[in-house]
Amino acid sequence: MGAPFTVSTDVGHWIAGARHAGSGGRSQAVYNPATGAVARKVLLAAEADVAAAVAAAKAAQPAWGEMPPIRRARVLNNFLALMNQHRDTLAAMITAEHGKVFGDAQGEVTRGIDIVEFACGVPQLLKGDFTDQVSTGIDNWVLRQPLGVVAGITPFNFPCMVPCWMFPVALACGNAFILKPSERDPSASLFMAELLQQAGLPDGVFNVVQGDKVAVDALLTHLDVKAVSFVGSTPIAQYIYETGARHGKRVQALGGAKNHMVVMPDADLDQAVDALIGSAYGSAGERCMAISVAVLVGDVADKIVPRLAERAKALKVGNGMDAVNEMGPIVTQQARDRIEGYIELGTKEGAKLLVDGRGLKVPGHEAGFFTGGTLFDHVTPSMRIYKEEIFGPVLACVRVKDLGDAVQLVNDHEFGNGVACFTSDGGVAREFSRRVQVGMVGINVPIPVPMAWHGFGGWKKSLFGDMHAYGEEGVRFYTKQKSVMQRWPDSIGKGAEFVMPTAK
Ligand code: NAD
Repeated sequence: MGAPFTVSTDVGHWIAGARHAGSGGRSQAVYNPATGAVARKVLLAAEADVAAAVAAAKAAQPAWGEMPPIRRARVLNNFLALMNQHRDTLAAMITAEHGKVFGDAQGEVTRGIDIVEFACGVPQLLKGDFTDQVSTGIDNWVLRQPLGVVAGITPFNFPCMVPCWMFPVALACGNAFILKPSERDPSASLFMAELLQQAGLPDGVFNVVQGDKVAVDALLTHLDVKAVSFVGSTPIAQYIYETGARHGKRVQALGGAKNHMVVMPDADLDQAVDALIGSAYGSAGERCMAISVAVLVGDVADKIVPRLAERAKALKVGNGMDAVNEMGPIVTQQARDRIEGYIELGTKEGAKLLVDGRGLKVPGHEAGFFTGGTLFDHVTPSMRIYKEEIFGPVLACVRVKDLGDAVQLVNDHEFGNGVACFTSDGGVAREFSRRVQVGMVGINVPIPVPMAWHGFGGWKKSLFGDMHAYGEEGVRFYTKQKSVMQRWPDSIGKGAEFVMPTAK
């Protein structure tokens, strides 16, 4: 590894295997959200920096793509070992810039490592299909080849895991990769770049450009970038999808969410309360799979709402590095203001505010970006606090009559990322999972984030594009299929054929 990572260093780019200060001259503050202090600066790439990264990637990709998959997998295996070795360093870096509690950051890194582990199996994933004798003397097989230079644009809320949804699979498939991480918590990206180099990845195969819209637009319009993976909010996802497609790129763009958890009257209510509290307030609700709507069926609401209120009030909120805390700060002051603005709006819209997290002060961290857990009851589908993604620790309870109404409510929402149903009835569970219009379903599981080999993706406004992230869908996204049909002279027939060939 190059110079050791020091937390006070400005965070720049990583191009052709070296740190790079860029030519933009622009930078932006990176905060420690627990203290509210500026911790360092992130440099914002200019178009020329993106061009330099793409040129480095383009130069390095052919040799990497030609390398036998098993040798690429060995590099990823080395990276896997380094990620395991440095898991806590990465987790501490994430807590320092994102704010989430350290144990949750460790979990994030572990879920990222899962994908690296999956990508190490790439020889098996790329082995293709073969048919002997599609016609007499003719064989046909299908192989998957890398796209070339591909890019990933990632959100602030998982600065390690979401990049890991993309680059390990893309690299394993033989592509060169350019990561444009979130400018709010950029340090993990550089650290992983250094680990990849240490693992033996040839310089230029993995590059990082820090930045904002300038860097994103440069990637979206660059002729040599063949595919773009995006994870972030819905308006930007749609913009990325449309702009990328217009510039001839393959695009997968994962967007925002409003995840419902349906609690049926026959559910284990202790489990349901635990699940709602953990999934609504964990990571301060800044997860795309957070539960933000509790759909309480029949008489469930009267039984569990008071318990939810009691638990929401008792949440331990503070610095994420302090192991007693269950919830850390919000990523930025601006995000906290947006969340608290929604709480104000909810009261105006007529929802019943049972627990108000606004104005929380954490002793010793008075300037930190904290807000407490908030709970609304009697939220209705016409309210903006129901329709829009708040992306904070705000849980909205909606009361419905029966399973049919619950499913209808979920299906009418414009987002379709994740959903859960808590029940003890197998028939209800089956009916729910078949009828619900959402990409990822949990039965008695509140945050059903699929494991590395299953692939991740929502429906409706939660995903633009055809393929989910990672898993075999990821392998398909980062490769193009080629079909080869072959015969040798001793089996070649006589004369030109003017009709559609059929099996002989
Ligand atoms: P964001 O959309 O603001 O930013 C995501 C990325 O896009 C960042 O790299 C950012 O620099 C870039 N970006 C921002 N504005 C841009 C613009 N105008 N033009 C071009 N690029 C731009 O999202 P965020 O606040 O970092 O992350 C939170 C959002 O991400 C939430 O909506 C959350 O639901 C979503 N998310 C979705 C998933 C999923 O799998 N569906 C996973 C994680 C987060």
